[in-house]
Amino acid sequence: MLVPGADFPHLCAQCEDYPCVEACPFKALSISRKTSAVLVNDEKCTGCGKCIEACPGRIPHMHPADKKIVICDLCNGNPQCVKVCQEGGWNVLKTVTRGEHPYRLYARKPEEQTRSLAIKLYGEKAEEFI
Ligand code: SF4
Ligand code: SF4
Ligand code: SF4
Repeated sequence: MLVPGADFPHLCAQCEDYPCVEACPFKALSISRKTSAVLVNDEKCTGCGKCIEACPGRIPHMHPADKKIVICDLCNGNPQCVKVCQEGGWNVLKTVTRGEHPYRLYARKPEEQTRSLAIKLYGEKAEEFI
């Protein structure tokens, strides 16, 4: 947690141009035709980390034990995190369709996401502490 009370989910935003997929030298990443999510082929992933470097938000996560990349796959079109968030009444997460939002806007580093949220929550003065 970078700022107490300003937790932010740090998940793949399915960038329109998929820099991670482009950057993978081993063709381990592909785009789901059904959901547009990034799919990881564990057999091909070598754990080189190039996709993390290429992602504007450094979002691909290296599994600490397997040394394979983990990226949100949108639960094959039925995002369970959204379901739980809605059922719990928080209404923070929701599904949107392509074209509604500039997707790459959400592909940001955790520090950047937290800074924006903290300023929203606590005002401009929060910037002094981040
Ligand atoms: S870590 Fe895996 S998915 Fe990422 S660029 Fe390397 S081989 Fe491709
Ligand atoms: S947010 Fe990162 S992991 Fe997701 S599509 Fe964009 S570059 Fe790839
Ligand atoms: S619950 Fe499913 S949709 Fe949500 S972040 Fe995890 S993989 Fe992605």
